[in-house]
Amino acid sequence: MKLLFIYPRRGSEKRTFVQSFRSIFLHKVIFAPGLTYNVLAALTPKDYSIRIINEEYQKLDFDEECDCVGITATTPIVNRAYAIADLFKERGKKVIIGGCHASAIPDEAKQHADSVVIGNAEDTWPMLLKDMEKDALKPFYRQKGLIDPEHMPTPDRKYMKGSFFSDGVQTSWGCSTGCYYCAITNSTFGKHHVHRDIPSIIQELRAIPQKFLRIYDPSLTSNPKYTKELFRNMIGLHKKFLCNGNIHVLGQDEELLSLASEAGCLQWSVGLESISQNNLDSIGKRTNKVNDYASAIQKIHDHGMWVKGNFMFGFDYDYPDVFKKTRETIQSIEVDLPCFYIVTPLPGTPLFSEFKQQGRILTKDWSLYDFGHVVYQPKNIPADVLFEKTYEIYDELYSPFNKIKRSLGGVKTDILSFAGTAIESLYY
Ligand code: SF4
Repeated sequence: MKLLFIYPRRGSEKRTFVQSFRSIFLHKVIFAPGLTYNVLAALTPKDYSIRIINEEYQKLDFDEECDCVGITATTPIVNRAYAIADLFKERGKKVIIGGCHASAIPDEAKQHADSVVIGNAEDTWPMLLKDMEKDALKPFYRQKGLIDPEHMPTPDRKYMKGSFFSDGVQTSWGCSTGCYYCAITNSTFGKHHVHRDIPSIIQELRAIPQKFLRIYDPSLTSNPKYTKELFRNMIGLHKKFLCNGNIHVLGQDEELLSLASEAGCLQWSVGLESISQNNLDSIGKRTNKVNDYASAIQKIHDHGMWVKGNFMFGFDYDYPDVFKKTRETIQSIEVDLPCFYIVTPLPGTPLFSEFKQQGRILTKDWSLYDFGHVVYQPKNIPADVLFEKTYEIYDELYSPFNKIKRSLGGVKTDILSFAGTAIESLYY
């Protein structure tokens, strides 16, 4: 049995030489592709043959010999995933689609696939393979309960390794914060935090040759006790890593910050989202207190780590002056790498249901649900202003001068920090 797993690329249009070069460079050299298929490979019997294609830098051959094609996709790339699925189905191949978009709208995904995997596949994948061998695939394979830590395998990197510069690990799943716009917490069992056992993670980390890592967990602050133990075990591995966490927890827990720094953490990515407390309260992010942002960021800096602060524009309490106010706040609270997105109601989230009920969804072209387009009717900012000003603030804060200044800031720590921050800064 031969399986072909595909990471679809962003967009279907023909790329220019420069776009292709940029994509190959970013995905082959800088960013690791994620671990979805490495985990599925680990759950697949050894007598199967597996090939993983990352369409960002590898060409797809629709006539490639295989028994089954597996495709995972988030919402902005799902149109490309469907196009690929249709072409393989036309050639008589079995197609399986999974990922957070297919899990949110399985009936839509089913129109392009023989089977749809809903939720995490750790428990359903072995069953799906047995059904496929009997030529008796079911239309849907739904996650029935929390993933059993026993069923969380170490990803098999034989078929796809990380990039030249970095790789990634995932130690836990789920986040209980419950933000209304978040695809993770609103997915099947997404509000429950489950984690792997620490010895298996350390073993995995030891086997990864790259020094630079991304920890993919949606939030490493969901269970600080577990994370502290993980960090204690990571000290001495000589890795440098980026990870995600909650600003409120980080601001309250100096022991966590100290252990993170000792374990090799370079940067916390935190969802600051908005400088309006009304916005934060109305989107289910009540953990965040705007008044505490400055002191929490100061504490992270004191432990020698950077803050990547993620903001969204277009919430219902945002007015046209939000861009100027946010820029001023970012400078005063010293966010190192600010990132800006346009509010995006992903399918399956309470935000999508709310906007749909209010008749505010402007399009269902999923390719525009990339946090860089306006796909709903904002309340207090004209849609075109929201779009233009979001890009304008990027241009201002990432001017060539600011990029160089930011990159040089990484020199303060060590060469890997410099390389990491320079790359991120240049990328934005
Ligand atoms: S804190 Fe982050 S991961 Fe958790 S629900 Fe909110 S957006 Fe999702």
